[in-house]
Amino acid sequence: MKHLTIALFLVLITTSIRAQDEETTQIKLIFDNALTRQEAYHNLEYLCTEAPDRLVGSENSLKAIEYMKQYFNALGADSVYLQEFHTPAWKCDSSSVWIIPQSGKPVMLHTDALGPSPATPMEGIMAEVIEVKSLDEVEKLGKEVISGKIVFYNRKWNPAFIRTFEGYGDAVDQRARGPEKAAEYGAVAVIVRSVTNSTDHFPHTGNTHYSNNKIPAVAISTLDADLLSEQLQKEPKTTAKVYVDSEDIPETITYNLIAEIKGKEKPEEIIVVGGHIDSWFNTPGAHDDGAGVVMTSDVLRIFKELNINNKRTIRAVVYMDEELYQSGGKAYALMVKNNGEKHYLALEADAGAFTPRMFTINASEETVGRIAAFLPYLKPYGIDEIKAGWGGVDIGPLKELGVPLMAYGTDSQRYFDMHHSANDTFDKINLRELQLGCGCIATMIYLVDKYGVE
Ligand SMILES: [Zn+2]
Repeated sequence: MKHLTIALFLVLITTSIRAQDEETTQIKLIFDNALTRQEAYHNLEYLCTEAPDRLVGSENSLKAIEYMKQYFNALGADSVYLQEFHTPAWKCDSSSVWIIPQSGKPVMLHTDALGPSPATPMEGIMAEVIEVKSLDEVEKLGKEVISGKIVFYNRKWNPAFIRTFEGYGDAVDQRARGPEKAAEYGAVAVIVRSVTNSTDHFPHTGNTHYSNNKIPAVAISTLDADLLSEQLQKEPKTTAKVYVDSEDIPETITYNLIAEIKGKEKPEEIIVVGGHIDSWFNTPGAHDDGAGVVMTSDVLRIFKELNINNKRTIRAVVYMDEELYQSGGKAYALMVKNNGEKHYLALEADAGAFTPRMFTINASEETVGRIAAFLPYLKPYGIDEIKAGWGGVDIGPLKELGVPLMAYGTDSQRYFDMHHSANDTFDKINLRELQLGCGCIATMIYLVDKYGVE
């Protein structure tokens, strides 16, 4: 009996070692492919150079979707189709901010409007500027001080956060909620210090939330924010002129793009990967989020080329409109719900194409544990952590349907230097880092499909 137990034990160990070797070999094939091919890189080059400024409602956003559709068709995906939906949109043609000192010449600042800022009159809005560091300060100063002024939010990014997404989270309320708060207290316009740790002349735009009272809102570069602050120290009654030429588009027809490889055993169970194709109006959107689109799309190419026998359906979704109204993710989840589709897991890549670092999971503890057990397979390729955490904006609405969510995470140190600015260009993309990302995401999807998450 004792001998039998030992024999059985040895058989089990050998089988599991053989299974591990087999996996190691398969995963090496995935990375060999990802690192020697450049399709994702070339796709990203196209998006950045031929279809930059891809805000929802723009011609380039549709051109980009069409390009990716042709790419999936050429790959020989089992099905490729567009999900049409309607959404409000917005466009911005130009904006400017001038400091008008009491003595000396007016100075023009580096500016981009926040979305969806209303337009100013043709002649702009001219008023005294009041500098604040927080939304609370606006409340404390009250209507008496704020009314009729241009509120200038100038709290600096705190560089002490190790992960820059936390630094962003700490500073972004000034942009996301600042204009709404200032409007409540009678301000006529808002200027926001760009939400970035970089010190340069690039303005960083982004979304701002409005309730009923919409006032024009713009971001200025960090160097210009310092300049304006110094000017206010010298002359506290300094005025500024804010000009925005923008337009609300009540409704536009747009699309998410869907491409898939059918599952061989459980085709009705869908594993979805994706990123968002739209970018702000001021940027080629290389890291945010052209990179996410091309890396997740590359999963289908890798699976096709390596003839991987996926049990479940692997679906790539190219989401429209993450930036302005998040309408693509909402429309997608609604379709999933209406069609009664079973989504097994959803992964989003929207953190740039820097060195791979982690996967974070928004799901039950048990599911997180199952996925975290894949870490030894990904460690040799740069993934340090698989843990509970953030899922994604586009896949967020799937949470309600009980779908486990996962985000691909990179080394975040440089991401916010470029984020939402004209600085987010293709030359900031490192070929190897991007292709490693393709390998990491494809491997994760391969493991999720093969071993399951529940
Ligand atoms: Zn993004």
